[in-house]
Amino acid sequence: MQPILKSAKLANVCYDIRGPVLARAKQMEDEGQKIIKLNIGNLASFGFDAPEEIQQDMIRNLPNSAGYSDSKGIFSARKAIMHYTQEKKIKGVGLEDIYIGNGVSELIVMAMNALLNHGDEVLVPAPDYPLWTAAVSLSGGTPRHYICDEGAGWLPDLDDIRSKITDNTRAIVLINPNNPTGALYPDDLLREIVEIARQHQLIIYADEVYDKVLYDGVTHTSIGSLSEDVLTITFNGLSKNYRSCGYRAGWMVVSGDKRHAQDYIEGLNMLASMRLCANVPGQFAIQTALGGYQSINDLVAPGGRMRRQRDLAHELITAIPGVTCVKPKATLYMFPRLDPKMYPIADDQQFICELLEAEKVLLVQGTGFNWPHPDHFRLVFLPHEDDLREAIGRIARFLDGYRKR
Ligand code: PLP
Repeated sequence: MQPILKSAKLANVCYDIRGPVLARAKQMEDEGQKIIKLNIGNLASFGFDAPEEIQQDMIRNLPNSAGYSDSKGIFSARKAIMHYTQEKKIKGVGLEDIYIGNGVSELIVMAMNALLNHGDEVLVPAPDYPLWTAAVSLSGGTPRHYICDEGAGWLPDLDDIRSKITDNTRAIVLINPNNPTGALYPDDLLREIVEIARQHQLIIYADEVYDKVLYDGVTHTSIGSLSEDVLTITFNGLSKNYRSCGYRAGWMVVSGDKRHAQDYIEGLNMLASMRLCANVPGQFAIQTALGGYQSINDLVAPGGRMRRQRDLAHELITAIPGVTCVKPKATLYMFPRLDPKMYPIADDQQFICELLEAEKVLLVQGTGFNWPHPDHFRLVFLPHEDDLREAIGRIARFLDGYRKR
């Protein structure tokens, strides 16, 4: 029998957050071992419940949710998203400019598929949320990674961005607030990125799915609010801000000068129609979520659970010799660095696997986020404080042994 091979389109597609190390962890769990998971930003599984009123609203609307909706989404949800974009000062967004999807994930793939031809390049941050790199590759484009500078609090390096623009560059991806680094970008930097996009006629793809998960009183600016001409597609959803990843409710909003983008917009409309519509019960949660009590604010405020866990995880991880870490201003993640002199790691996936086997703690290796060196890992600080203490204690013990090798 001929082996059945995966398509050549998948040759450069990689999504390591749910890759081979997770498969090994599942196997260990099946054998009865207990693993502390600092690997995935799945809030509900750590007792961060979705707001009660969203749940009730979905239940109430379930009888009305059995049919397909408009491909772009139900009216009430798109109206609420339109108001939200107005709150974020993104100008000129009408109902037709809003697309609801099965999470932001589906829309990222859709947006790339509608745009890219072979040879087209997209600027993607390194490190990134790896779906972006994967979606560019899957759509036949070439991801070109620009460096975010750890020494500058993980802000995008503008010179690196400029140096990587070619005649084939079509777009730039910005993940702000950033997964995996927890960075939040200041307005002057965003303005410079808008200017680069304007000069080189790039589309800006702005992934803002953590725009309410902010610590220390910082505020978030949507890059889409900083220009009325540059075509900008802003992504957001319920998964993180409203702790409801499983409801699969996300959206994208097209802003800027759309007159020269009609053909691309037709492409988006066609892809949205081809998948008929997004999960309708999840869409019913959107209006209540955006208009209701913003309980996320309690979690990130001083004394709130997320904020306490961020502080504890950062304090404990940076107390380990040779581990440094930019303190996240936002999100659920930090991206610590292991001093290569003390930890000469050649293959960081193997390193993470050894940690898992030895200490039953699961992390994701930095190269899984398209970081070019094997000297970082991502830590999710969602587990309760006791579990974080236990997990980071085990990481410290493992690293102690690693240094003595
Ligand atoms: N974008 C970023 C930066 C993320 O971290 C995630 C999920 O972790 C997503 C998008 C996907 O979100 P969704 O659940 O809306 O598909």
